[in-house]
Amino acid sequence: MSIQVRVDRQKIEIQEEKKLTEVLKENKIELLDLAYKLSSGEIVHTDLVEDLANGKIVPASELTLTDRMRIGLHSGLARQHRREAFQIIKKDLLKNNQNSELLEKIDHVLKFDFSNPNDEGIFPVHQMAQAAELDATVCIGCNKCVEACQRVGINYLKLEGEGRSKHVVASDDPTIDCIFCGQCTANCPVKSAREQSQIQQVEMVLHDPELVTIVQMAPSVRASVGEEFGAEVGQNLEKKMFSAFRKLGFQHVFDVNMGADITTMVEAEELAERISHGGKMPMFTSCCPAWVKFVEFYYPEMIPHLTESRSPQIHSGGAYKTWWAEKEGVDPKTIRVISIMPCTSKKYEARHEKLKVDGLWPVDYVLTTREIAYLLKKNDIDLMALEDGELDSYGEYSGAAAIYGASGGVMESALRTAAFLLEGKDLEKLEFEQVRGMEGIKKAEVVLAGKTLRVAVATLATNMHTLMKEVKDNPEAYHYIEFMACPGGCIGGGGQPIPASDEKTAKRIEGLYSIDSSMKMRQAHQNPVAKEFLEYAKSQSDDRKFELLYTHYSPKKKGE
Ligand code: SF4
Ligand code: SF4
Repeated sequence: MSIQVRVDRQKIEIQEEKKLTEVLKENKIELLDLAYKLSSGEIVHTDLVEDLANGKIVPASELTLTDRMRIGLHSGLARQHRREAFQIIKKDLLKNNQNSELLEKIDHVLKFDFSNPNDEGIFPVHQMAQAAELDATVCIGCNKCVEACQRVGINYLKLEGEGRSKHVVASDDPTIDCIFCGQCTANCPVKSAREQSQIQQVEMVLHDPELVTIVQMAPSVRASVGEEFGAEVGQNLEKKMFSAFRKLGFQHVFDVNMGADITTMVEAEELAERISHGGKMPMFTSCCPAWVKFVEFYYPEMIPHLTESRSPQIHSGGAYKTWWAEKEGVDPKTIRVISIMPCTSKKYEARHEKLKVDGLWPVDYVLTTREIAYLLKKNDIDLMALEDGELDSYGEYSGAAAIYGASGGVMESALRTAAFLLEGKDLEKLEFEQVRGMEGIKKAEVVLAGKTLRVAVATLATNMHTLMKEVKDNPEAYHYIEFMACPGGCIGGGGQPIPASDEKTAKRIEGLYSIDSSMKMRQAHQNPVAKEFLEYAKSQSDDRKFELLYTHYSPKKKGE
């Protein structure tokens, strides 16, 4: 049986498993394959290529090709590693004043093959803020990312070129901008469209004995990461993930769900305030950074409708670097918070200067569900074989937080707590079924404290445009609207396991609702950890309280 592999865009058929070096030679593809011994004894290979299935960099001479392997020979990452290898060898040669012939050869390669310090692949890597990137060098022109972006309703991507040179490019139309949702990355079969990886940075943090590491996992990840390990779709694997985090070396296992309970309380207070004392209505949720970017770029005039509440990962990250650090006597500067998210736009959000607390990022690095699965596999951690583990007590969360990952979940959580704030008692029935499900727009009327509220829940930018028009035509049409960029909400996020499908997303959603219904504590205002942090935040000066709980927005230009 023949074996089919792909090197960059070129399909190659071989008759048996072989080393990549051999296949490259047979196909007259040049790659300088030095294995140089440094004076320290370490061997440096120059024939580095990218195994596109997992982003691993490996020497071609050590890589045996198996069926359907995809190799990035000129991918941005492979070229970056090859350039670094040549530079290391050059430095060693200069230091030890040896082998002038080899030095000349390397100088030639660095000058002619890697002359630009920002040199990337055949096509430069196009970065969408800190969220996603397009490495068109390995693009096979399948159009899936273009369709995904069209489905979202943004149309930022298109294909250029013909035949084998067909590749993805970003739109230069000044009226169109990427919102960093990552749906293109969740639909690309060859990682040409992909998240901007922070695996390396997280590995460095985990190996630094001076640092205090905190990991916090988003609501959705626990119901989807199992797909990478053969589990049933929607299976809640949070307890195994808690064990896996400790095996990777994280010192404190907390949870973005705790942050979601803080967000719910802050947002519910604002909703109750706007309802009772008048404020810009309808109020919009703001915990999806792709949606916030959508408003800031496409509808800046609607910014006052966004709740001022920070998002869950930013609330909990900030809480751990301030209130928790003070309680535990830890220097906040030594803390590194790593979020595990189903989303690429959370990488972008984590780098907002305006969200810093006491001059520090609330979240230092963000890994997607796919990235954490890769890190576990790289460390030979078989998730399904692990014993259940426990969350550290500062990560405690309510059922209301667990449903944040599903479209309608943020609204349902906020309504549970807003009802408590307005009526002074808990609701008898906590479920708001009308706002659940996969539909792109859901509308409902709910009664809180004797007042009928018209609410809506939308996913995908196409539906956001529809609701924006409705709100502009009739500002009183709604009181409260939840928006999420991805199909089904965060659970269908751009950082989730590939391949993506609505059927899978619907099953993952069932997993989240069953976590909620199985919990004793199902309302954010019952969470003692979130409540204690809120009391702390509210006891601070106005400026610091703002830094801990709230944010502001501003119109954005293309690329910002
Ligand atoms: S991140 Fe989202 S908006 Fe940006 S190109 Fe990809 S699918 Fe389109
Ligand atoms: S999905 Fe990937 S391979 Fe297909 S066109 Fe887009 S970037 Fe290229």
